[in-house]
Amino acid sequence: ETLDKGLEKTNTSFIAKLSKAVAGKSKVDDDVLDNLEEVLVASDVGVNTTLKIIERIEKRVERDKYLGTDELNKILREEIAGLLSETNTGEAVDFSIPTAKKPYVIMVVGVNGVGKTTTIGKLAAQFKKQGLKVVLGAGDTFRAAAIDQLQVWADRVDVPIIRQEMGSDPASVAFDTLKSAVSQDADVVIIDTAGRLHNKINLMTELTKIKRVMQKVVADAPHEVLLVLDGSTGQNAFEQAKQFTLATEVTSLAVTKLDGTAKGGVVIGISDQFQIPVKYIGVGEGIDDLQVFNKLEFVDSFFK
Ligand code: GDP
Repeated sequence: ETLDKGLEKTNTSFIAKLSKAVAGKSKVDDDVLDNLEEVLVASDVGVNTTLKIIERIEKRVERDKYLGTDELNKILREEIAGLLSETNTGEAVDFSIPTAKKPYVIMVVGVNGVGKTTTIGKLAAQFKKQGLKVVLGAGDTFRAAAIDQLQVWADRVDVPIIRQEMGSDPASVAFDTLKSAVSQDADVVIIDTAGRLHNKINLMTELTKIKRVMQKVVADAPHEVLLVLDGSTGQNAFEQAKQFTLATEVTSLAVTKLDGTAKGGVVIGISDQFQIPVKYIGVGEGIDDLQVFNKLEFVDSFFK
């Protein structure tokens, strides 16, 4: 229910555009396919994934000779669900984490402004709600505001935060955070990092160093590298996914601000193109406005 509410804008707009694309047509022909292609691109599904979907529908038209536009909804739904299931194999249903890893270490990456801090705060709140002991690490030492904002969330959720002054070595903050987590017997650690993309080599070097130093404390850390993307930024989100996957091994995605966009299709395109599962979606600024991504619910809401 909340998902439907959060994604209202996405749905209305996708369905409205889709109906326009097939208006006055009873069968799927080249015209309809051209219009559909436009709708998918306009919904930020991305060109490659759009072409993949169009191709699959063309194949079905070819096979069945006739495809009514009234069936298009159902078929699109199946194709999109199919694309998402190729990446989202596990059916994540809640905010649980593997308890065998203790502490479970999540390194969070992404450029400034995408909602990284907010997502960390929301996640910390969810973990704490389950009775897990959470420690935050203020690894974005490049901006004083980033440290302060994470502090605000740590206070709000009431979890410990490890921080150093602005300009200090992020790897050193990560090291301190893990040390502290181990000594407190914490269950989960969430480490923020700086998201400067202007220098790719720097980004790669920095993230690699943070990982290496963390492994001095927890040998297989980080267990998860969560890339946060702003779902309302379309092509920028694609570009960021490209840069970050080149710089480090990204294991999961959080797509934020899906409440404020008519372009939720970015979720489909990015998870298809980069073959990384979408784990969380942000649907508002509040502490509870983070949801575990459920592909079937998402596809349904896209078509409602
Ligand atoms: P950071 O620079 O990446 O750490 O970004 P912040 O976490 O500070 O978020 C930037 C802005 O986006 C803030 O005003 C947040 O409240 C807002 N924000 C974050 N996530 C969401 C979301 O899912 N929906 C909406 N509407 N706003 C969000």
